[in-house]
Amino acid sequence: MSSEIDAPAATLDLGLNWHNRFAQLGEAFFTRLHPTPLPAPQWVGASLAVADLLGLDRAWMNSPEALEAFTGNCAIAGSEPLASVYSGHQFGHWAGQLGDGRAILLGEVGTASGPQEVQLKGAGLTPYSRMGDGRAVLRSSIREFLCSEAMHALGIPTSRALCVTGSPAPVRRETIETAAVVTRVAPSFIRFGHFEHFSHTGQHEQLRTLADFVIDSFYPACRDAPGSPYAALLEAVSARTAEMVAQWQSVGFCHGVMNTDNMSVLGLTIDYGPFQFLDAFNPGHICNHSDTGGRYAYNRQPNIAYWNLFALGQALLPLMDDQQQALDALEPYKAIMPAALQRRMNAKLGLVEVEDGDAELTEDLMKLMAQDAVDFTIFWRRLSHAVTSVRAEPDEGLRQAQPGREAVRDLFLQREAFDAWAARWRERLFAQPGFDATTTQARMLRTNPQVVLRNHLGEIAIQRAREGDFSELARLQNALERPFEALPGQDDLAAFPPEWAGQIEISCSS
Ligand code: AMP
Ligand code: MG
Repeated sequence: MSSEIDAPAATLDLGLNWHNRFAQLGEAFFTRLHPTPLPAPQWVGASLAVADLLGLDRAWMNSPEALEAFTGNCAIAGSEPLASVYSGHQFGHWAGQLGDGRAILLGEVGTASGPQEVQLKGAGLTPYSRMGDGRAVLRSSIREFLCSEAMHALGIPTSRALCVTGSPAPVRRETIETAAVVTRVAPSFIRFGHFEHFSHTGQHEQLRTLADFVIDSFYPACRDAPGSPYAALLEAVSARTAEMVAQWQSVGFCHGVMNTDNMSVLGLTIDYGPFQFLDAFNPGHICNHSDTGGRYAYNRQPNIAYWNLFALGQALLPLMDDQQQALDALEPYKAIMPAALQRRMNAKLGLVEVEDGDAELTEDLMKLMAQDAVDFTIFWRRLSHAVTSVRAEPDEGLRQAQPGREAVRDLFLQREAFDAWAARWRERLFAQPGFDATTTQARMLRTNPQVVLRNHLGEIAIQRAREGDFSELARLQNALERPFEALPGQDDLAAFPPEWAGQIEISCSS
């Protein structure tokens, strides 16, 4: 079939080891096609860590060939470009067929860290573009690029981003913007929606092919699990999803569009759109301006993930004995997610083990933080600094900051309420066998980031990039790649958000 499509004139050899297993699944899974070139590309940003991951030469990443290749302007030897078909539930409703409307999978590359798929997002029209134009705008491409690398540095499972290139080609959204392409990398971009597609269209043979491919490639232990391997797959995906969502909650990350077509079957964070890291703590925060009902509010994410897993379970039913098998496979999520979250929250609090009463300690803190709209990231960082001034006996402890530090207590309006909570925390800290404040602090500072990709930081970098200056983007990227380090000259990136941050409206338009 590839001979039927027009390949770009120039073919480039990147020296990569392509094997493209997804392209071997069969014609029902995708349409082969080439990216549509964009004029006058320029570099916007690149991650050398991802270049290393793929085995691309760092110096070559600066070359005009690389720029053309990752804008979709030339054919790449060994790649087998395609757009995959999937369906999904969007905002709780069955949306029917969706598919890669603007992402083109170049193929799969063998690397030292295992196979990695390489995708160009914003690479032009596909048969699945529906009403869209196949393009991505500079603004959202920068956000996806930065957030992918930020999440990775936070230790949160995510797709990676090799680079962003921009083009002056106009793209119409609410206003006229310009086009960009993000080169995304992940072991697989298979979504819950891929399974839903083959299930809902009655293509059960393809459903089995897909499930077998995912099991053999990514969940081999499911093959030997007692009972159905497909039930084991559902349970394994649920477990990974639970761990991912627990990490989102613990770092204050809101995804914004947790539709089933945006859920990775590998439990990776994918499809960065109107995401946000919380500024002031508000459990019901809605980061997506298009999400009028608040379906994807911060505190609903764990339940929505379960809802999505349920949809995946339903899609897998044709491969299982009965519904009960799917329900049983989903059941562990209900315990794994809260346990994973409590483990993460305990780590943020400097507590090594989880004990009875820790859930209450955490919940009471979150209530206080919500009441006083305390900045989420700054709170945890200050708490980490404060731990060495806590004494075994009740005293002025957290009323005073360490020299050169702001007191965590100052973040609260209801300071006595915070003092009462801090006394409980102190007691719990000191009850730990062999508690050592210095070691605990070091651990907390490696758990509670100094810098996260707050909306306003992204906006500043985007504004400068629109003016043709990519230095702020690079500075921000550098800080996000080291989120636990207090880098000199970067205090602004760790500061409270400015007043205007609350007015930023990020929607599905991207
Ligand atoms: P998203 O909400 O970004 O996950 O997108 C939902 C669906 O719409 C996916 O199938 C996307 O590929 C598709 N889509 C989003 N934006 C565009 C666009 N500009 N052109 C074509 N398809 C798009
Ligand atoms: Mg999507």
